[in-house]
Amino acid sequence: MEPALISPASATLAGIPAKIFFILIPLAGVGIFAWIIWRRIAPLLKAAPDNRLQRIPERIRAVLKIWLGQWRHPRYMLAGVLHIVLFFGFLILGARSTQLVVLGFVDGFTLPGFGGIFGVVYNVLKDYAGTAVFISVAILAIRRGAFTPARYAVPDKYGKDHTPEALFVLGLIATLLITESLFEASLMAAQALKGQHAELAPPLTLVWLFRHLLGTASIGALQGLHLAAYTIHDLTFFFFLCFLPLGKHFHVITSLFNVFFMRLDRGNVKPVRHGVDESKLDELKSFGVKTFEDFTWKHMLDFYSCVDCGRCSDRCPANRVKRPLSPRFISIKARDYAFAHYPLLGPAAGEAQALIGGIYSEDEIWSCTTCGACEEECPVAIEYIDKMVDLRRGMVDDGLVPQSLQKPLSALEKRGNPWGKMEKKRADWVAGAGADCPVKLFEKGAAAETLYFVDSITSYDDRMQKIAQATARILCAAGVDFGILGKDEKDSGHEVRRFGEEMLFQSLKEQNTEAIRAAEVKRIVVSDPHAYNALKKDYAGLPPVEHISEVIVAGIRSGKLRLKPGENGSRTYVYHDPCYLGRHNALYDAPRQAIDTIPGIRRVEMTGDCRDRSFCCGGGGLMLFYEPEEEQRMGVVRVQMAKNAGAGVIVTACPFCLVNIEDAIKVAGLEGKMEAIDLCELIDRHLQRDT
Ligand code: SF4
Ligand code: SF4
Repeated sequence: MEPALISPASATLAGIPAKIFFILIPLAGVGIFAWIIWRRIAPLLKAAPDNRLQRIPERIRAVLKIWLGQWRHPRYMLAGVLHIVLFFGFLILGARSTQLVVLGFVDGFTLPGFGGIFGVVYNVLKDYAGTAVFISVAILAIRRGAFTPARYAVPDKYGKDHTPEALFVLGLIATLLITESLFEASLMAAQALKGQHAELAPPLTLVWLFRHLLGTASIGALQGLHLAAYTIHDLTFFFFLCFLPLGKHFHVITSLFNVFFMRLDRGNVKPVRHGVDESKLDELKSFGVKTFEDFTWKHMLDFYSCVDCGRCSDRCPANRVKRPLSPRFISIKARDYAFAHYPLLGPAAGEAQALIGGIYSEDEIWSCTTCGACEEECPVAIEYIDKMVDLRRGMVDDGLVPQSLQKPLSALEKRGNPWGKMEKKRADWVAGAGADCPVKLFEKGAAAETLYFVDSITSYDDRMQKIAQATARILCAAGVDFGILGKDEKDSGHEVRRFGEEMLFQSLKEQNTEAIRAAEVKRIVVSDPHAYNALKKDYAGLPPVEHISEVIVAGIRSGKLRLKPGENGSRTYVYHDPCYLGRHNALYDAPRQAIDTIPGIRRVEMTGDCRDRSFCCGGGGLMLFYEPEEEQRMGVVRVQMAKNAGAGVIVTACPFCLVNIEDAIKVAGLEGKMEAIDLCELIDRHLQRDT
């Protein structure tokens, strides 16, 4: 039977077989696309190495969960759901687009396996998928154009608004969907007009709508529409393909790879240079990232993969308090740099340029608290902490260390603590632990099964020593045979490393490792999450490390620790998740369980800002010595969140959180109305002691 309409592969244009054009369009499209990708790969070939080919099964699981499962998208519900519709719509429509391209030069082409019942089912599915994507595109366009969420805003200092590009791409997607539907609907209408068997358009789809609108059109009009729709679809498809790597929509291509190669561990920091052993760091001529080419290839891939969704900056505490840092623009500025310095045509632009003072400012990079909120949120698994640390390593190597940090760093080098206090005073807090809680000192040759690693602030700061004393009393009550290193303990170096002073960190690590090994303990207990993270993630070859909250829960379960009813029944408690206990180590439940075991205690959550969405208190360690420009203190924002949750007492489990939050309570004018307490102090106060 004669077809109802002349197909693209059989049509002629000005006497020339149209199939010639429909072969040339894909050839040109694929050729230009391959060229652009090759040019985009150019900086990656010059980048620093990074081994991301280990732990393949975990990487495949990450792809299935984060890329295919779109796991992180619903954290922002409306945008997330719309993106999920778009994503799955694209996956489904991909086969149809491929088929359409070949239909331009092979009449009646169907993809292998799409001929029988599967093909019929697929056609219905793709029509509904296309319609769902079209509706999502319309909602996204209205949202982007008329009700733009604040997180998409581009401050003047970061360049032009990205809305036109977003709307343009939504327009391209809509064009693809409309032309595909018109191509099909015009054929159905012509078949019906000629009394031939016509496939049914699935009800309420775009094809169905167009089929009805075209019900009265002439064969000539339908023929013109059929070929015009095909041609526009073909041209738009290949234009879109080549447009993707030119901007933020590059993520459509790179996100799969970016997730596959993602960082699998939390809390750790990348080595100074992959493939160079820590013992050989002395041999390196330069440390850290100073020019774009010093980034690893994975970090460059991150820049290409940024969706520009603004989620990282929306959750970034530094951005929230108006420090000069917005993680989204760390990526976008680097991507713009790559596009400008590695153009599509011509050679790469000249000498590598310094990033600090070029696209980034010193303050911008020092503003990061390494809290990890950005990484937790990013739907395509982009990394920031390693980049910040690498940029800081570069600054430290060039002597660009803020004035206020120079003294504490030098004190750490000389005395092993940032205040430069005498080593012999490190164990002075022990005297306040109480007569019935003797604390053994390994420095004096004592032996014990467990080491309590105290770290600097808890050892030396008058207020924080109370945490050490409470921790010791809890350990005593739980019957733990423990001791401390005393003067042999040095700062864990956790923040030193994250501030880019790698060699100083290595020295502190070596001294601590030696002292810990000499103590011959079977396990280590810590109350400071920064020390916990350092010993667990930055050190190697140590006995198992536990946080005191885990010891408390185990003690309660075994019956060794018994808690009495709350002293102040009228107060409401809220738990603040320290970044290095929660996000970086997933220890969310033990502290909550410990608090909830106190009979009669009332605890609320800072819903939406707790657990892996906790808001950094202002940063630990050396952040105490560095005050970036900011409009508000992070701690004040956190205290307000606690107040809004209806809490009168903020419980935390980190000495730095306690410093920042206690300070913020004063700044917020909430003294007397709000109180902060460490978990160990709270448990210690409620310990049922046998008299
Ligand atoms: S780690 Fe925290 S402070 Fe640093 S960029 Fe990410 S969210 Fe912001
Ligand atoms: S880094 Fe991730 S979260 Fe931030 S804007 Fe880019 S894609 Fe979004």
